Amino acid sequence: MATEHTLSIIKPDATKRNLTGKINAKFEDAGLRIVAQKRIQLTKAQAGEFYKVHAERPFYDELCEFMASGPVVVQVLEGDGAIAKNREVMGATNPADADAGTIRAEFSESVGENSVHGSDAPETAREEIAYFFSGLEIVG
Ligand code: ADP
Repeated sequence: MATEHTLSIIKPDATKRNLTGKINAKFEDAGLRIVAQKRIQLTKAQAGEFYKVHAERPFYDELCEFMASGPVVVQVLEGDGAIAKNREVMGATNPADADAGTIRAEFSESVGENSVHGSDAPETAREEIAYFFSGLEIVG
């Protein structure tokens, strides 16, 4: 399988509960390498731009408010098949449906406040990484 990069975000519900290290241990244990990382606070407008694909969804405003409600950790994960691997480690969007041992099953509080984001395809991974990082900031 090809080496890929994917964008991961540790969301405000998780940073507030001091879960950054526990969540990143799950990624590293699964063989993913953190090759870029920063802790930032998004504005609601920046969150809205990032999630603009969901602009028509009923939860869009709530999602943007939530993503701007506290610090997030944005990071690039690298590994064989990293896009799918990251989503596997994250678990289903709704923690009630997430497999045991996944991040969302263990740590998430609701379908909205679900602790992590992960890119869903190669093209979105490229776009999402470029939204937060320059090439110089990605060090494998
Ligand atoms: P994923 O993050 O698993 O790729 P989606 O792309 O479907 O899931 O949704 C993006 C984000 O929007 C979710 O991670 C979650 O934070 C939020 N979200 C999705 N569905 C709902 C919902 N029904 N109610 C509130 N927030 C939601």
